[in-house]
Amino acid sequence: MKYALITGGSRGIGKAIAISLALELHYNIILTYKNNTEAAEITQQEIESFNVTCDLLKFDVANAEETTDALKNWEDKNPEATIEVIVNNAGITADGLFMWNSTEDWNKVLQTTLNGFYNITHHFIQQMLKNRYGRIINISSVSGVIGTAGQTNYSAAKAGLIGATKALAQEVAKRKVTVNAVAPGFISSDMTKDLDEKELKKQIPMNRFGKPEEVADLVCFLASRKAAYITGEVININGGIPT
Ligand code: NDP
Repeated sequence: MKYALITGGSRGIGKAIAISLALELHYNIILTYKNNTEAAEITQQEIESFNVTCDLLKFDVANAEETTDALKNWEDKNPEATIEVIVNNAGITADGLFMWNSTEDWNKVLQTTLNGFYNITHHFIQQMLKNRYGRIINISSVSGVIGTAGQTNYSAAKAGLIGATKALAQEVAKRKVTVNAVAPGFISSDMTKDLDEKELKKQIPMNRFGKPEEVADLVCFLASRKAAYITGEVININGGIPT
């Protein structure tokens, strides 16, 4: 059975990506999340209505031990499974001016995005190389591309993810494993629900926030066989914000 794993798939962009990979590419889904079981179960039901399986794994991607335990446990129960697609989507913000940032927030933001990428991807990379096929898609951000004031921690984490994407892409290309980053601008989700959309959209040439489904369509293409010759790229999806 072929699977796509999406971290942070209970809500928002990750949910839209999981739905799209199930519906368009017919993948069975492993959906990870941290706390929100209710949202995860609603997403699971929707995905299973497309005649694929959707397994829920609740763990903190920032925690190496929890991640490895959850993934090993799942693999023991699914010995025939092949993970073809990994979408490293789980991410958090802890905004504020750098001089007021706490060490705790700095670590939390970096660990969720960067250690999360490592903990998940490192676990599966050997299997992908052995299979000579894989798609790894890392959800970065416009903040990681151009830097955003008030988000030094988040910009650092998302820029780090871009560096990791470009380096790993070169290591694994020969085995037909592609690694790309997607850098969304403002997308409507729980993460952005408290922002002043009316004010912020003035900075966006398209004059609107993006939809999770629009990011999902791009990820779905990168995850498909059609994207075989694209690797090590950062694809911006931000309504025209200059980068
Ligand atoms: P949301 O806050 O709506 O959803 C976050 C998801 O990540 C949830 O499923 C949450 O699980 C999960 N999650 C958070 N922390 C962890 C963790 N430590 N371990 C496991 N799962 C975790 O975010 P968005 O959908 O808006 O964002 C998704 C990604 O896209 C993030 O990486 C974000 O940085 C990035 N992005 C978002 C933009 C936007 O404008 N929205 C713009 C650019 C990038 P649970 O439900 O259990 O809490």
